[in-house]
Amino acid sequence: MSEVKELISVSLYNTFTRKKEPLTPLKEGEIKFYSCGPTTYDFLHVGNGRALVIGDLIHRILKSLGYKVTFVRNFTDVDDKIINKANEKGVPALEHAEIFVKECKKDMHSLMMIDPTFTPKVSETIPEIIEMVECLIKKNFAYVINGEVLYHVPNFKDYGKLSKKDLEGLQHGIRVEVESYKKHPSDFVLWKPAKEGEPSWDSPWGKGRPGWHIECSAMSYKFLGSSIDIHHGGVDLIFPHHENEIAQSEAANETNFCTCWCHNEFVNFGTEKMSKSLGNVITIRNFIEKFGGMVLRYIFVSSHYRTKLDWNNKLILKSIEELERIHQFIIEFEQLKSANVSEQSTFKADDVLSKIKSELANDFNTPKAMALFFTLIRDFRREFTSKTPTDETVQEIQKIIDFVSSSMGIIHSDANLLLKELNHSKKELSENNTDTNTAASIATTEQDIPALIEERNKAKKEKNWARADEIRNTLKQNKIILKDHPDGKTTWSYEP
Ligand code: AMP
Ligand code: ZN
Repeated sequence: MSEVKELISVSLYNTFTRKKEPLTPLKEGEIKFYSCGPTTYDFLHVGNGRALVIGDLIHRILKSLGYKVTFVRNFTDVDDKIINKANEKGVPALEHAEIFVKECKKDMHSLMMIDPTFTPKVSETIPEIIEMVECLIKKNFAYVINGEVLYHVPNFKDYGKLSKKDLEGLQHGIRVEVESYKKHPSDFVLWKPAKEGEPSWDSPWGKGRPGWHIECSAMSYKFLGSSIDIHHGGVDLIFPHHENEIAQSEAANETNFCTCWCHNEFVNFGTEKMSKSLGNVITIRNFIEKFGGMVLRYIFVSSHYRTKLDWNNKLILKSIEELERIHQFIIEFEQLKSANVSEQSTFKADDVLSKIKSELANDFNTPKAMALFFTLIRDFRREFTSKTPTDETVQEIQKIIDFVSSSMGIIHSDANLLLKELNHSKKELSENNTDTNTAASIATTEQDIPALIEERNKAKKEKNWARADEIRNTLKQNKIILKDHPDGKTTWSYEP
């Protein structure tokens, strides 16, 4: 007989209200969930990996808590970055994007991610995008100028409600002369005329391609309807991307777009966000080849999604060691099930599962849920050195393991195999400590950088140019570039 799943209420931090609040789904027991997916122009970096794994975690946790989740995560396969990369290589842009959709899917598989309900691409959603743009023009939220369609921000009175920015403040920050054809400096592109050699589609405004923001509004509407329960992305997407999605969707559909906005914090590298444009990235692929996908997944699962993650060696080692502990326990538990020890224990784990569920339902508090699981592992080891559990306890523990596995995806189906792989990861980590091209060594050097920057600034103040140059050169030998800013601040990044 299949078990009826109990539905657990969740409370989530909502970027819109800036507080944690109970989530009331639009339809009881069901969640419509959209997560902004990657732009497929190159291999993804571990910062993108965090956004992917957090999207997967939200999906898994809600399912495990009893909800029927319809989950949409897009691939941005039409974009300036893709076109530039494809032109460099001399291949058609859509072909280039497709190569990296495939590579991205390989990474997702290594990261133990489960499939969303729908994974649309921009290139497959053009009719719906055109339809939405037409609707926005008709409703006087957009205008056409020289084959380009622009969203007219002042006509959407709630603009800025997510990012808490007001239009006047925004106007001050924009150099008007740059794009004088716009009616308002904050107006953004919905559709742009394509240049020679770029991917393009016929539209009422001539051959062209969509701007970035419209794709998510159109895809969300296509698969989930006018209103959704949860929308997720990295914090960098709050403005302008998600603000613009609200403006588009609410103007077109005339109803509230999304109940709860979830944003994961950054993976930082040194003093900056890990990002391709800053050149301080470790690709997911590179990491996986050295340490395995489970180690990367566990790094993200074991830290709360709203805390900043400073990338360093300790993070990798902690992940390896905790995964080892979990999988050694899985093996011991299996052995104990068939062991023949006479003294029966009174050990009970009946409230552990509900406590773990409560933590996950409390703004996806994975670190606390993991702490409860580790307490169970510790107590289990203490108790069962000489005693044997009752059948009831075995069942309870099995349920907890199954739940931890399905909700967080951090238990490998072959514990012995994973332990072997983790052994290899550990060796890799220690061996690569001196190799400047690896994540491990980058992370080691990284810890010294702030002090070196400070010392260099002091040397400069004291006109000790020799020492200042020496520090810059030493860092350069480690492929670290310093950048002095006009305000006196110095930032650093890895050599591209
Ligand atoms: P992109 O391909 O740049 O559109 O990014 C895809 C997703 O990765 C978005 O949700 C971004 O917010 C997220 N992201 C990009 N860089 C980082 C980072 N360093 N840490 C966490 N998330 C990131
Ligand atoms: Zn989006």
